[in-house]
Amino acid sequence: MREQLIETARAISGEFYLQKEFSAGGVGAAILTADGNIYSGICLDLGCGLGFCAEVAAMAEMLKHRETHIDTVVAVSGRGILPPCGRCRETMAQLDARNLDAKVIISENRTLLLRDLLPDHWLSKPGAEPSDPDDA
Ligand SMILES: [Zn+2]
Repeated sequence: MREQLIETARAISGEFYLQKEFSAGGVGAAILTADGNIYSGICLDLGCGLGFCAEVAAMAEMLKHRETHIDTVVAVSGRGILPPCGRCRETMAQLDARNLDAKVIISENRTLLLRDLLPDHWLSKPGAEPSDPDDA
């Protein structure tokens, strides 16, 4: 399943250009859900900082099917497998706290749990709310 997921992400990745220097598809991502379904998405890179990561597009596809529980996730660019950015890590955790135990493929030979990429995450504490730096 790991190889199938990587191949799914690799197959949809491939940057193509829109108008100006804008592009899409530089990264493809695939998610295997706990229910056994695979969802995928590509990134979008526009001007003025607009756009979104491939993982976000894959998560939106997953949510479209009313699923939130991720088993495994991977993102692939032309340079190979990429670890998710901090925003995507946090988004996966906030979609479903069980995703802290999701497997994140971060290279050809390395897979970590999301909780390893988000140590001491606030959602892993019972009844926790996001921390407010003003409360410190
Ligand atoms: Zn991201």
